[in-house]
Amino acid sequence: MKGDFAKWNRREFIKLSAFGATLGFGLAGKKILLDPIPSFAHVAKAKMTDDFQLPTTGVFVWDEIYRMKFAQDAIDLANWVEEKTGIPALGNISGHPFPVKKYLLAKERTIETGALTEQDFVPTKAIDYQTMYMVHSRSHIHKLRMLEASRAGLLHGENVIPPGLMEYLKMACGGTYTAARIALSRGVAMNMNGGFHHAFADHESGFCYVNDVAIAIKLLLDQGLIKKAMIVDLDVHHGDGNASITLGDRRVAIYDFYQEDNFPSEKIPVAHPVAMRAMAATAVTDQVYLEALRSTLPRAVESEAPDIIFYLAGSDPFLDDVLGSFLLTKQGLRQRDEFTLETVRKRDIPVAVVCAGGYPKSIGDIVDILSGTMAAVKSAG
Ligand SMILES: [Zn+2]
Repeated sequence: MKGDFAKWNRREFIKLSAFGATLGFGLAGKKILLDPIPSFAHVAKAKMTDDFQLPTTGVFVWDEIYRMKFAQDAIDLANWVEEKTGIPALGNISGHPFPVKKYLLAKERTIETGALTEQDFVPTKAIDYQTMYMVHSRSHIHKLRMLEASRAGLLHGENVIPPGLMEYLKMACGGTYTAARIALSRGVAMNMNGGFHHAFADHESGFCYVNDVAIAIKLLLDQGLIKKAMIVDLDVHHGDGNASITLGDRRVAIYDFYQEDNFPSEKIPVAHPVAMRAMAATAVTDQVYLEALRSTLPRAVESEAPDIIFYLAGSDPFLDDVLGSFLLTKQGLRQRDEFTLETVRKRDIPVAVVCAGGYPKSIGDIVDILSGTMAAVKSAG
């Protein structure tokens, strides 16, 4: 009996130890594997508080070196992927899913036409990984860094991971923050980049890897520079990443005018949605679009009374856009920009403009649209 008890005891001891070890490893593993998404609502001590220097002139934030390097690397890599796998990574969208070259061409256009001069442009200040962690999970950023280092090609079949991606993203996010700081000081500014509104806290989507606008808002809130921000998103696609990251946080209000029957399939609630279907019977022409904008945007801005607005001036409501089905002309888009900037500026609210999407069959069209937005920003300043 005694022997049996000892045997039982030993057996139970082993079983209990194994259970304890499993539980211990499980919890420890979970702690590592869960990699909690940072809470947007949590107030952290922000980076970049002390060393940010406001540029003395210019409101268009720009960095040529990283942009061009990224653009060329992305195109080279997409070509390489297509050659090796037969996957048409470049598709038929202006040689690249996201035509990064548009920024440079738009800048050149505005200088050629005399709308802007070199003095209107100021350099970007890059953010660091610690600042990305304020909005994004560490595992997401680590994954992007590993994929970049391994020349992995494409993520989810659409997001190109070229060498130089992370440096590019640091600059793009820093540019949006820089534009916001200039806007707070001088009323209006534009990052010649950004508007990555499909990027979630823990994953990339729709050519968006990290969320520049969410990062900029989080920095401004944590630094006590603003109490409330508003996103006015006029890209043709719903900004699911922005909505997800800021969901439930009353310090961020979103006005989102998008094509309902388009990517992304899952829409996330925002305070001021204007969703339109692009079927033939309800074609979204200049007139239809501008009427809807005029009847909803001023009220939304008035009711929110934010300390700053981030305007996502996507070029993809254009009638010839490959990934959008609205029917706006270039003139209609220019009126959209002017009306939006006027609505915001006459209430004396600072506005930081970012480029967001645009996938035209002809790169010339997007350059026309983007340089029109830039001219509208210049006049609003
Ligand atoms: Zn878009």
